[in-house]
Amino acid sequence: MADILVYALHYEGAFNKNSLGAVSEGARLAAEAGGECHAVVVGGSDLTDELCATLGRYGAAKVFRAEAPEGLAQPVIDVMAKVMDDNGHRYALFGGGLLGFEIGAGLAARLNAGVTMEVTGVNVVGGELQAERPILGDSSISTSKYKDRGIIIGRLNAFEIRGDGAGDAVVESVQVELSPWSTRAKMVQRGEQRGADVDIEGADILVAGGRGLGKAEGFELCDELAKAFGGNAAVAATRAVVDAGWYPYAAQIGQTGKTVSPKLYLAAGISGAIQHKVGMQSSENIVAINKDANAPIFEFSDLGIVGDLNKILPKLAEAVKAKKGS
Ligand SMILES: Cc1cc2nc3c(=O)[nH]c(=O)nc-3n(C[C@H](O)[C@H](O)[C@H](O)COP(=O)(O)OP(=O)(O)OC[C@H]3O[C@@H](n4cnc5c(N)ncnc54)[C@H](O)[C@@H]3O)c2cc1C
Repeated sequence: MADILVYALHYEGAFNKNSLGAVSEGARLAAEAGGECHAVVVGGSDLTDELCATLGRYGAAKVFRAEAPEGLAQPVIDVMAKVMDDNGHRYALFGGGLLGFEIGAGLAARLNAGVTMEVTGVNVVGGELQAERPILGDSSISTSKYKDRGIIIGRLNAFEIRGDGAGDAVVESVQVELSPWSTRAKMVQRGEQRGADVDIEGADILVAGGRGLGKAEGFELCDELAKAFGGNAAVAATRAVVDAGWYPYAAQIGQTGKTVSPKLYLAAGISGAIQHKVGMQSSENIVAINKDANAPIFEFSDLGIVGDLNKILPKLAEAVKAKKGS
């Protein structure tokens, strides 16, 4: 089997968790299949040899570094297509995330390769990679095999980070001529959204808000309740409210957001669409507040409260505070 190329995204001198998980997974698969895991990084002069070499700790034997605009898909597609062609990589692996989806899809089109997105597991069978992807609302798993080249894009944070690599990776600079269209867009500004630093996946208690909150300010009710719980509680959101700009994407739960399994998932004003359910159904306890007694979320809740969240959430926050004596 040929070597595996993994895309590693960095920001302000550090690789993101998702990329480190993908490099670790690439290294595990390459070791099993008898190949090597290589990483590719794209960016400016802040991309030092030292920084690139650290990917060796996660199992990358070699890191290809290219100077090109970072954070945009097309330049990375140019770089990865050239690196794969020049070095005979058969597979490319991504940790997921919006940029990973965009680069992976573009790369598949460029190389005429097979592509699988939202992958939650990859296996080596007969020296070849096969990707597993949940389908039909996570009720079944489909397996993808690749006739020729394969582009495998994980679900966000699906791959576990393992820091058991041999040490520093070899760093090789590559020169790539960018396609004319790749330089048409430029990054004007990059910023972190409010809530981007919240560890939704690590929280024990999630107070999730949906369109039933009525407006962006409605999230203050969720913030207040999460604050009352204290400790390891955080606020999450549905895609409907993220799309409406009421809350940051970093807090989105579901098919195109994060997958969580807290001890308590409290859903306020959330209908319980299948795309939301797949991200939170493995929570230990699900409590739902909805004014519609027929809302689908009640079908998979441990406790359902039919009523107006504007009345219930403040009372709940008060009760939690009273119980905690704060
Ligand atoms: C390809 C694809 C991917 C998607 N990915 C995701 C994803 O990752 N995550 C996600 O969440 N969605 C996702 N969606 C969208 C999903 O289908 C739903 O549209 C979305 O989850 C609905 O969000 P909601 O529950 O906030 O809003 P709604 O469906 O509008 O529900 C609002 C609920 O609030 C209740 N309500 C209203 N007022 C009150 C009140 N005062 N008190 C109590 N209850 C009240 C209503 O009865 C209703 O049940 C995706 C859709 C597609 C097509």
